[in-house]
Amino acid sequence: MDLDRLGVHESTSIDFPFEVLAAELADDVPEVVPVGGSDGVDPATCDAFVTFTHQPALLDADPVWIHTTQAGVDGFPFDAYESRDIPLTNSAGLHGDSVGETAIGMCFALGRRLHQFARQQTRREWSFPEWDAAFTLRGEPVTVVGLGTIGSAVAERADALGMTVTGVRRSDDPVPGVETLVSPDRLHDAIRDARFVVLAVPLTDETEGLVGPSAFDAMREDAYLVNVARGPVVDQDALVEALEAGEIAGAALDVFEEEPLSEDSPLWGMDDVIVTPHAAVADREFYVRVADRVRENVERLRTGRSLENRVV
Ligand code: NAD
Repeated sequence: MDLDRLGVHESTSIDFPFEVLAAELADDVPEVVPVGGSDGVDPATCDAFVTFTHQPALLDADPVWIHTTQAGVDGFPFDAYESRDIPLTNSAGLHGDSVGETAIGMCFALGRRLHQFARQQTRREWSFPEWDAAFTLRGEPVTVVGLGTIGSAVAERADALGMTVTGVRRSDDPVPGVETLVSPDRLHDAIRDARFVVLAVPLTDETEGLVGPSAFDAMREDAYLVNVARGPVVDQDALVEALEAGEIAGAALDVFEEEPLSEDSPLWGMDDVIVTPHAAVADREFYVRVADRVRENVERLRTGRSLENRVV
């Protein structure tokens, strides 16, 4: 079928302004209009939608298709889409460079003490770290949990830096840059020797609370947890306890059980914790990649083919 009017929900403005996506799609869709917010048109006048978050009002408009700019679809009630026979596609596959670089940047910051110097700078403080605080990433073991788009991007970069990469993966198909593959039921074996544990799994029933007290017990005392996946993959109270007790050395966290992270969370004030506001994906070119995926699926709809990255 031909798609005449595509609604772009205001929730996408977290990643880019409506206008840039609309301009990028101008040659592919007759009309691209905003929905939601004060300028939004009536969703019932649209054939399909691009949104960031799940919006019941978009389902009620009975579109032929909804695309989310997120890779993780844990916030989308699949049943509601299935029961109305509305296909949902996601943006997995588009975040390798941005989130991959952020995760590696976090490892660099922690190893090279960049987070410490940034804090010192706000105090105009010139002081050297403890003699044994800084280390280089070369030769350090890293375990990447989940080897999809993001995990593979982290593994490839870590390998290029001379780190020793272990991957936790359900299949044993080789992944470039990963020296050792371990199945998820042996997670603790996989993280036991790691200096960095990087989480890149989706939030599912299986991964909720995956990293809790027993995982922190298993980790080295000088290990760092990097979470660019979803907050609930980590038991956050257990993380705070592990950090306070010195069971692990620190963490770099882009995602939290509740977002925004509450102002009174102890994580804000910890010296070796980096807190970023679920912004690992931030990238000024992201809208181009979203437009490519939308364009591809508009064409597939037109020619009656199955949608790319369909999750429902
Ligand atoms: P992806 O679908 O390409 O990869 C996810 C991988 O995890 C798949 O290979 C899957 O088989 C694997 N997996 C699932 N359950 C597993 C388990 N129990 N153990 C080991 N592996 C398991 O998705 P992606 O683009 O790599 O993104 C991964 C997740 O990262 C998303 O689901 C999302 O929640 C999160 N994410 C966060 C940000 C951010 O801004 N911080 C941005 C994009 C994605």
